[in-house]
Amino acid sequence: MSAEPLLEERLMKRSQQKKRMSPLNYKERLFVLTKSRLTYYDGRAEKKFQRGWVELSSIRCVEVVKNGGGVIPCAYKYPFQVVYDTNTLYVFAPSNESRSVWVQRLKERIQDNPVVLVKFHPQFFKDGSWLCCRQTGKQAPGCDQYNLCADVSRKPLPPIPEDKRGDEPPPAPPAPPAPPAPPAPPIPRSAGDDAAGGGGGLETVVVALYDFPGAEPHDLRLVKGGEYVMVEKCDVNWYKARNQYGEEGYIPSNYVTEKTSGNLAQFVWYSKQVNRNKAEELLKKEDKEGTFMVRESSTPGVYTVSLFTKSAPGDGASAIKHYRIKETSGSPKQFYLSEKHVFSSIPDLVQYHKHNAAGLVTRLRYPVGQEDESAPSTAGFSYEKWEIDPGELTFTRELGGGQFGLVRLGKWRARHNVAIKTIREGAMLEEDFIEEARVMMRLSHPKLVQLYGVCSQQRPIFIVTEFLERGSLLSFLWQRRGAMCLDVLLAMCLDVCEGMEHLEDNNFIHRDLAARNCLVSAALVVKVSDFGMARYVLDDQYASSSGARFPVRWSPPEVLQFAKYSSKSDVWSYGVLMWEVFTEGRVPFDKKKNPEVVAMVTQGHRLYRPKLATPTVYDIMQLCWQERPKKRPPFSLLCRMICSALEGDAPPSN
Ligand code: AMP
Repeated sequence: MSAEPLLEERLMKRSQQKKRMSPLNYKERLFVLTKSRLTYYDGRAEKKFQRGWVELSSIRCVEVVKNGGGVIPCAYKYPFQVVYDTNTLYVFAPSNESRSVWVQRLKERIQDNPVVLVKFHPQFFKDGSWLCCRQTGKQAPGCDQYNLCADVSRKPLPPIPEDKRGDEPPPAPPAPPAPPAPPAPPIPRSAGDDAAGGGGGLETVVVALYDFPGAEPHDLRLVKGGEYVMVEKCDVNWYKARNQYGEEGYIPSNYVTEKTSGNLAQFVWYSKQVNRNKAEELLKKEDKEGTFMVRESSTPGVYTVSLFTKSAPGDGASAIKHYRIKETSGSPKQFYLSEKHVFSSIPDLVQYHKHNAAGLVTRLRYPVGQEDESAPSTAGFSYEKWEIDPGELTFTRELGGGQFGLVRLGKWRARHNVAIKTIREGAMLEEDFIEEARVMMRLSHPKLVQLYGVCSQQRPIFIVTEFLERGSLLSFLWQRRGAMCLDVLLAMCLDVCEGMEHLEDNNFIHRDLAARNCLVSAALVVKVSDFGMARYVLDDQYASSSGARFPVRWSPPEVLQFAKYSSKSDVWSYGVLMWEVFTEGRVPFDKKKNPEVVAMVTQGHRLYRPKLATPTVYDIMQLCWQERPKKRPPFSLLCRMICSALEGDAPPSN
């Protein structure tokens, strides 16, 4: 069982009064949630002492505590309860958002526990009685219906007011938390006249897919699963939004999804890009009865429920069943797994089958999402922030050296890993680049290495980008020689193709696409780097096509002859990159000198088929190397061809 922390935060804990006469007290502890335990520690993350823990399997209820207007005698004002065995642990979070996250995550983890309360106490147990129902005795039966499936983050509770007349002396708080946000009316769901995309109609509500702490005071903090009203679409990457307290600020657009009935992305059980094999792998890993996910099938718009059971009918062995969600033919269309139970939406269908197997091998109990839940990069650290204060950077180690100088790993504000390029004096047309950096920062895509900003007020200047743990694709190919199968190689090509499709859509030309200019993440995602940077190189040997460092082997005839760059010249280079991938990092035309390569390519010679490339894969490369640029396919079509090759289908025609 993994001890990987799922959640970690300093919270306050009320003593559990094991001895009848001992007074209540409140202590700050580091709470850590793992897959199996909720543990609390004394001290800090670096040096901590375990004080106690609760096995998640013994938890019977996790819920917010309503205070009924009473005093919260500690610094953190947002209580929740964890009822386990016959005990209740009261924990106090510093904010409503933090409490929502803890309650929600804990609830998700105990969904399958054998004994969950039917009724619980919504208020505190204090001085021998329950404040909610006045029953005495800790074991008195609960007085309110308990709903384990209710999502607290979607129904924000007002903060509990501070009462200066505390009837218990507050303990000395180690660090006072930020004051609770002022109460404000709940999110209005209609009559929005300033909401983006609403056209004067209903306000657009978005759901956060990830936590976003916010980097600047003008940003709005997001809590995964929380709902926000969209105020303005500032640009493609940043929106202005409002939370339930009426606070407004900037949020990254790729951290939210619109809350509309047809948008499945807002649900944890939905994974868009997960094929059958991957789904089986994810479900098996959980190894829990009723683990499920809904995923888009290889045919877009068709959805499948994948469900794990430990004892399939028949042989009683564990099995994974894939049920296609069917649609009725009439209008409006309805959805079903079994004809007897038809629903107006997929979320309704899932909700029903969470409680009723109704023909499925087991009911849908435990949702799993995509494994890689790490938050994506944002287009810069905040809206319109491209200048980075070098004082907020710390350096860790060298990553390599390139055309412009040294690249180092570092941290921004001691939190975010970043790659920092120090630009050697005289190596770059700095003013031109700084001007262009604002445009480049807006290029934000999961398959592009994100530019976060520049330190342009000093010399040497720094370029700060996303850090990719496994370094350059070229060295990665070398390291893994002989160990990669066709699908892995194709998947790497597809990543690059998707990044390039985004550049092409934005009319942005890379000019130096090659395996050395792509990077690989810890999760083995390949991203395109250094796009457009060739324009700022101050080096004749690199800039001129007859120079020794010019990327001749990756260049099409029109670049070699007329320096004519376009997205189609990028397509040519992409074909060469595919060749590099399928030769596991060989140098194209490796026995030839640059002038010989120029002569060969202009006379129509092309690279040979690598041993690992199937005829279909080589056909794709050759399409990229068409003499006439117009005949080369766009990246969008190349992506579809590679997808088809991955699925083993016949490729789509040009
Ligand atoms: P470059 O100047 O972009 O050619 O980078 C030189 C070398 O530094 C690359 O080959 C990588 O090994 C390393 N490197 C550059 N950027 C990054 C990054 N963002 N993340 C990790 N390694 C990097």
